[in-house]
Amino acid sequence: MTSWQSWGRLASPGPARVCTPQFEGDALALPPDLAALPFGRGRSYGDVCHNGGGVLLHTARLDRFIAFDPATGVLRCESGVSLRDILELVVPQGWFLAVTPGTREVSVGGAIANDVHGKNHHAAGSFGHHLRRFELLRSSGERLRCSPTVNPDWFAATIGGLGLTGLITWAELQLVPIANPFMQVRTTRFPHLDAFWERNAAMEPDWPYTVAWIDCVASGAARGRGVFMAARHAAPQPQLPVWREARRAVPFTPPFSLVNAATLRGFNLLYWHRAREGDALTHHVPYFYPLDGIAHWNRMYGRRGFFQYQCVVPPDTQRDAIAELLRRIARSGQGSFLAVLKTFGRLPSLGLLSFPRAGATLALDFPNRGHATLRLFEELDAVVREAGGAIYPAKDARMPGSMFERGYPRAQEFSRFIDPRFGSDFWRRVRA
Ligand SMILES: Cc1cc2nc3c(=O)[nH]c(=O)nc-3n(C[C@H](O)[C@H](O)[C@H](O)COP(=O)(O)OP(=O)(O)OC[C@H]3O[C@@H](n4cnc5c(N)ncnc54)[C@H](O)[C@@H]3O)c2cc1C
Repeated sequence: MTSWQSWGRLASPGPARVCTPQFEGDALALPPDLAALPFGRGRSYGDVCHNGGGVLLHTARLDRFIAFDPATGVLRCESGVSLRDILELVVPQGWFLAVTPGTREVSVGGAIANDVHGKNHHAAGSFGHHLRRFELLRSSGERLRCSPTVNPDWFAATIGGLGLTGLITWAELQLVPIANPFMQVRTTRFPHLDAFWERNAAMEPDWPYTVAWIDCVASGAARGRGVFMAARHAAPQPQLPVWREARRAVPFTPPFSLVNAATLRGFNLLYWHRAREGDALTHHVPYFYPLDGIAHWNRMYGRRGFFQYQCVVPPDTQRDAIAELLRRIARSGQGSFLAVLKTFGRLPSLGLLSFPRAGATLALDFPNRGHATLRLFEELDAVVREAGGAIYPAKDARMPGSMFERGYPRAQEFSRFIDPRFGSDFWRRVRA
């Protein structure tokens, strides 16, 4: 049995036996009395990838490409292939992922099981919208081919299905064409939250990627000020800048969090004042994956780890709810280096348990200060609940079952697709 941490470095409820199948059929040799759960790269912040007392089916060796057609951008690979591996293969051939989260260190299986979203949700939906098909291996040995037209109910249950419907062995993705590896990025600042909504509405129709960083320490008239970044894949260029990736690392875990009230205030102020407004040609790696350049950056939160709080609130309540969330966060003195605000589009997600839905999503990291942090989350939950919103399971380690039930009204319908030999700490927690 091994103790396993997810990205928030919060203590796992219990050690698990780790099994790393080399071929997908090996995953069927489960010990008879233990529940299993697929595990990708552990980039989920909380316990959706934990299975204390059970087996983790680590997909690190299911990492083979099966087929890629550079004429159509259709790629088939095993589920343990990472988004980084895919980009290294396809970007030089003029293709890109249709949807990517804020890190490349994510497996294809993990991206499907959380139906991850990116900065282009308003234009492209979530990861599931670009899946052509995949294979699902059940503990009974049954193999289900799933697509929007073949086994569509299993397709819908497995997209955003939190690894509970079985092991995704391989998947086929539709990529999008690009002219080069660069992004055209437009950066502007906005002085308060009302200005964010105006800027966002003005930019979204023309820019497929939009996101804002919010200074979560600012209060009064400056509450909700931030930096708005809109982007698109760059058009063909006569000459491209040279770009080389710099790799840094947080070499060890300090005994306490380096993120505290003083460093937070300093960082937020600096970021706001130093943001360079205007247009720039930026390589896709620093644009999409700014944190991937610092290995083990999660160590900076110290031994107690950290939480991410990510919620979505619907369009009709989003303005009041986001203002109230920011007010409570600023008042608490807790908060994050990066508070990220983005609006999701209206394209309905395909998964029964998918998180993305129309409205605004706010995400912040919080150092784990125990009771004080959990108390703040209860306050934030009340605002999200009142607004009719939901919390993202991929980032969660503590939402109460009642919050999950309200945010995911199809959970009951989903339950019948769960593999009887599969389970997770998250599911046991929210469905207890
Ligand atoms: C810096 C950073 C930025 C991020 N930005 C975003 C973002 O912008 N948008 C977003 O949506 N998310 C974001 N995330 C979260 C991350 O994209 C998701 O948690 C993702 O699912 C992690 O993938 P993984 O391979 O690490 O899977 P894990 O975390 O290991 O597992 C996640 C889930 O997938 C299941 N699973 C894994 N492999 C399989 C398989 N083969 N078959 C069936 N189920 C499987 C697991 O059981 C688990 O339930 C971010 C995370 C980090 C650390």
